[in-house]
Amino acid sequence: MKILIVGGVAGGATAAARLRRLFEDAQIVMFEKDEYISYANCGLPYYIGDVIKDKQKLQVQTVGGFSKRFNVDVRTKNEVTEIDRKNREVTVKDLNTGKVYKESYDKLIMSCGAKPVKPNITGLNETDNVFVLRNIPDTYQIKDYIVNNGVKKAVVIGGGFIGVEMAENLKESGIDVTIVEKLPQVLRQLDYEMAQLVHQELSVNGVGLILGDGIAAFADKGKTVITENGKKITTDMTVLAIGVTPENTLAKGASIKLGARGHIEVTDNFNVYDENGNVDDNVFAIGDMIEVTNALDGSEYAVPLAWGANRQGRIVADYINGKKIKKSTIAGTSVLKVFDLVVASTGANETILKQKNIAFTAIHAHRANHAGYYPNSSNIALKMLYDQKSGKIFGAQAIGREGTEKRIDVLSTVMRLNGTAYDLSDLELCYAPPFSSAKDPVNILGYIAEDISDGVYKTVHHDEIDEIVNKGGLLLDVRTPLEYDNGHIEGSVNLELDNLRNNIDKLPKSKEAPLYITCQVGQRAYYAIRILNGLGYNNIYNLTGGYSTYKAYKYKPTVKMVENKDGGDTQMGNNMKEIDVTGLQCPGPLMATYKALNETAVGDTLKVIATDSGFGADIENWCKTNGHTLLDMKAEKGKYIATVQKGGKEKNNVSENCDQKNASIVVFSGNLDKVLASMIIAQGAAAQGKDVTMFFTFWGLNALRKNNRVKVKKNAVEKMFGAMMPRGANRLPLSNMNMAGMGSAMIKGIMKKKHVDSLPEMIMKAQAAGVKMIACTMSMDLMGIKKEELIDGIGYAGVATYISHNENVGTTLFI
Ligand SMILES: Cc1cc2nc3c(=O)[nH]c(=O)nc-3n(C[C@H](O)[C@H](O)[C@H](O)COP(=O)(O)OP(=O)(O)OC[C@H]3O[C@@H](n4cnc5c(N)ncnc54)[C@H](O)[C@@H]3O)c2cc1C
Repeated sequence: MKILIVGGVAGGATAAARLRRLFEDAQIVMFEKDEYISYANCGLPYYIGDVIKDKQKLQVQTVGGFSKRFNVDVRTKNEVTEIDRKNREVTVKDLNTGKVYKESYDKLIMSCGAKPVKPNITGLNETDNVFVLRNIPDTYQIKDYIVNNGVKKAVVIGGGFIGVEMAENLKESGIDVTIVEKLPQVLRQLDYEMAQLVHQELSVNGVGLILGDGIAAFADKGKTVITENGKKITTDMTVLAIGVTPENTLAKGASIKLGARGHIEVTDNFNVYDENGNVDDNVFAIGDMIEVTNALDGSEYAVPLAWGANRQGRIVADYINGKKIKKSTIAGTSVLKVFDLVVASTGANETILKQKNIAFTAIHAHRANHAGYYPNSSNIALKMLYDQKSGKIFGAQAIGREGTEKRIDVLSTVMRLNGTAYDLSDLELCYAPPFSSAKDPVNILGYIAEDISDGVYKTVHHDEIDEIVNKGGLLLDVRTPLEYDNGHIEGSVNLELDNLRNNIDKLPKSKEAPLYITCQVGQRAYYAIRILNGLGYNNIYNLTGGYSTYKAYKYKPTVKMVENKDGGDTQMGNNMKEIDVTGLQCPGPLMATYKALNETAVGDTLKVIATDSGFGADIENWCKTNGHTLLDMKAEKGKYIATVQKGGKEKNNVSENCDQKNASIVVFSGNLDKVLASMIIAQGAAAQGKDVTMFFTFWGLNALRKNNRVKVKKNAVEKMFGAMMPRGANRLPLSNMNMAGMGSAMIKGIMKKKHVDSLPEMIMKAQAAGVKMIACTMSMDLMGIKKEELIDGIGYAGVATYISHNENVGTTLFI
């Protein structure tokens, strides 16, 4: 048997090696128009970035080594120019000598790959600094150009796999890089909110991002890149990475049938068709040049990735050897490194499912890759799309660090073996603290899917919640007030999980009204939902992925990273302190920063070392809102290092004895209108950055009473007093026109109509905004009010505290 193979890299070399193992006697000839065979295309960007230093390492096999081991006649620099299928022979041009010759075959395998798209862009022909990356010669060309021309700035057009990998590697070699991408996101295999995590990582590492804008032209011989939106970017070089197109010239010339986008259509055995749809039993095609069957729905598409080419190289050889092969489908499982992030995915994303009109449920989970108490744990953001009824998994995406791709591999395996979302909780996966948790992140996806299926809650998504809240939906954020202060969804109400049971009276009375719950990642929201389920609430939505996913969705690349300076650290303030918060997940690093800064003086600097990938973006905003200065922010060996100088400059204009940042309100009245007024003022002052303290004394204490009756020990007078006074903010009378409670009910109705918060809501929001509420213990004693009767989250103090607090305030009100 004489077998010819066109293309000597992923698919071709695999097929040749397998054929030899199956047919010791066959004559196998492998043609490769390039100089190298069986090289590591996937490693090329890393040679440019100096991660792979030795060029020899890019060649997995040399021509000599391959020929010897597999007894294959390898002909490099030999291009197959024609296929005569009728006479079963090919025409070959020897590119070394220019000689043209013919070679006959019994079987012919084409694995010609795909080439980079190079559109006809204005000015491109006048450039000598625009490159594409496909093979080893391209790689050397780029590397030589960088070295010989002292390249300082580069533009990468296209934010796909190769574009993002090139951007990282150019940046790692000290070049300023900007990615220009026509879509609003890089890495189209991801959904937008997941891609935002990649945008964050690119920004934090100093890669410029121009999204939603394409390339229009090159000017100044390639020294200027002009975008469709008119941006002009000065550059020393450009890498064009806008996609690949199948290498199909040979196939076209041989009248082989092509699909809509120019890929070869093949049978289940990889035989090609002629233009009339007749199968050619002797000609096969594999790899990037063919259409493959989508594991999602059996439709045809193209996945130019190495797994398919390698797999097909093996099974086509098996088929030629007479083995029955199983129909091969491809889900598009992929992974890439983006600086310190691992970005992995499998199957379809939302965009594809929507295009195909496939109904799906989307869930997010953020889980640590391994036990939080074991050093260097980091978060993995996971997303899974599946059919709620059958459990069929359509696709999954994961972004994190160590162990991220493992989770996608598990999901991809489950999908391949027709497992469902409801099988995930029962997967027995490896566990020891350095590797995972006893509930692996993949198990968690299964638990979430089960809870949804069991009707425990419904899901609401990051891109829906704003509209829901704007239309009056009640979104409860059950994180701690400090977490809430560090960032929350506009319009959400903070009610900490641990206080939820005591504040049920603050929730709507109707158990059927929709209730939206969120927390940092969805887990505490789930606990809250279980409490509410127990109380009969049955129309509850969990914001999937919680504030973490919402925040990623809303991310705007604004962080300007300071370049890694050889000179070491940035100029520091008086004292320097360092905290290592590696392994802590958001908001852990911010809370630790907050605590550490509280223990330092104004002007001191704090170095914070974190591994949480959101930290880079968070710290900048956090510093701004809290009056500190972010002196430096850099990413280094998988860690984000922020240098923060404790703020306090705003106090410079304030007289020494009067801290105008403070405001004090004494709430003496127990009248609805007066307490409302005090809450509005308190919230307003807090919003202006003032530290507000409210002292509730005498009748004002009634506003802090719980709505429900609390069993406490009281004497007869205290009992009587308690019964006569209004119990809680909902029952306060108006100071005028109360009309036996009618006036109070009327004003509440008007407030509701005009979307003004009720008094209990105002109290909650004021607390969430950081207003300190203190009940006067002396008045409590006089009136027989016990601590258990008052709402959570308040402090207790006597007059001394009030007086000392009042010494340095700028505003004092007595209501
Ligand atoms: C920079 C880069 C990084 C990548 N990274 C990854 C990754 O991380 N993961 C992943 O899964 N995939 C990656 N890929 C994609 C992966 O390399 C391809 O999917 C895979 O190589 C396809 O195999 P193939 O055999 O179809 O084509 P190729 O491996 O491209 O081989 C085709 C060969 O055929 C030769 N040829 C074409 N026409 C003729 C002819 N007429 N005569 C003789 N020879 C001919 C070509 O010169 C070429 O060498 C990467 C690709 C590139 C370029």
